[in-house]
Amino acid sequence: MKPVIALVGRPNVGKSTLFNRLTGRRDAIVADYAGLTRDRHYGDGALAGHEFIVIDTGGFEPDCTSGIFQEMAKQTRQAVAEADAVIFVVDVRAGLSAQDHDIARFLRTTSKRVLLAANKAEGMKDGPQLAEFHELGIGEPLAVSSAHGQGIRSLIELALEGLVPEVEEDDGLPEEERPTRLAVCGRPNVGKSTLINTWLGEERLVAFDLPGTTRDAIEVPFERNGRKYKLIDTAGLRRKGKVFESIEKFSVVKTLQAIGDANVVLLLIDATEGVSDQDAHIAGYILDAGRAVVIAINKWDAIDEYQRQTLQRSIEQRLAFLKFAPILHISAKRRQGLGPLWSAIDESWASAKRKLPTPVLTRLLQEAVDFQQPKRAGISRPKLRYAHQGGQNPPLIVIHGNAVEHITDVYKRYLESRFREHFKLVGTPLRIELRASR
Ligand code: GDP
Ligand code: GDP
Repeated sequence: MKPVIALVGRPNVGKSTLFNRLTGRRDAIVADYAGLTRDRHYGDGALAGHEFIVIDTGGFEPDCTSGIFQEMAKQTRQAVAEADAVIFVVDVRAGLSAQDHDIARFLRTTSKRVLLAANKAEGMKDGPQLAEFHELGIGEPLAVSSAHGQGIRSLIELALEGLVPEVEEDDGLPEEERPTRLAVCGRPNVGKSTLINTWLGEERLVAFDLPGTTRDAIEVPFERNGRKYKLIDTAGLRRKGKVFESIEKFSVVKTLQAIGDANVVLLLIDATEGVSDQDAHIAGYILDAGRAVVIAINKWDAIDEYQRQTLQRSIEQRLAFLKFAPILHISAKRRQGLGPLWSAIDESWASAKRKLPTPVLTRLLQEAVDFQQPKRAGISRPKLRYAHQGGQNPPLIVIHGNAVEHITDVYKRYLESRFREHFKLVGTPLRIELRASR
């Protein structure tokens, strides 16, 4: 599981700027997905070979008169509780403030690793302005500039020192015998525990108890129709004896970690509620993570035909950026639609891992271009020559050619749909990269 870093500090010190810098690479990948809503408080970060989750506690503006300051303090406490390391951001240009002292007092009581980032320090490395921040009793202030990207790398390296993500032990199994790691995500009350308990009660499914699993993480290996799966730590659930029950508190961090850990993410939507902002945020994280995904609308039994049609349309619209994901209708309670759900899960994982042979890719590319040429740009027309697979899970197709910078997004999507159709890729993102041949 990825380590978690929380950014705390009073407003305007540069937390969001730092957050954007740490998570920006991901944003660039998904920039062209219209309708993608994201929760600006949580994100996947990557820097200096580390992958981590960042929580920004900003945006909870303190207003001492209305008790919103209390709210910010609560959000900060929760973020610190969920984090492995905390970066306390202060503003060297503004100097120390009473609020910095309040936050420091709270942070001194935590056993978490806390780093003090003296932000907006561009052009003043080791300047005397830094000295006063020693007063906070948090340790050495580290001069950084979030806006200019200075000092950020070593800040992150210090924050993550020794916090290597737990890697799944290599079980020595050949790829085809490894269990499919499945995360079941969704808001509280959507039916996660009902679904899992229904699964585990199915005759065709054999669950293995993990001896000595005492931590609250849930990892249930099981076999169904000769295939192996592992239900991985599923946010918001707890195991009580043989059954699962939900925990009241929804944790975005746990959801992000579960998504990061999974081969396939099952996103449950409540038919009686429709797509909430939180659902759309989770969907955004799944897309960011490049995971295979299946969407299941649960409680399909509880709505009528008219509501079904309206709901189907609204889901297609709001989750348009996940349109490669199969959408299934199920009733966890009445055990309906579960067979097709398993097929969709298997198919999505198979698609994410599919090998795409170069000769086939190149032939498909040529056929696609013959059928519809890319638009001319000025006097030159982009020329696409050949394609190869640049990666799996999710599949990446690298296309080589000339003047590729003139290929439009629309044309890229056209190519994507041709590749998807031929290889029957469902439930996985497909990335296409254009490279100029020399
Ligand atoms: P937050 O409220 O803590 O999230 O702060 P923001 O990230 O919104 O930044 C507040 C202001 O500080 C914005 O105007 C930023 O452009 C500016 N800022 C952020 N980082 C830096 C920095 O490294 N140097 C300078 N000079 N300004 C910065
Ligand atoms: P969780 O918080 O996501 O684990 O949700 P639960 O599994 O605890 O379910 C929340 C509520 O939804 C419970 O009252 C369930 O009985 C109900 N529920 C779950 N699945 C279905 C379903 O398929 N149809 C209907 N009508 N109710 C369901």
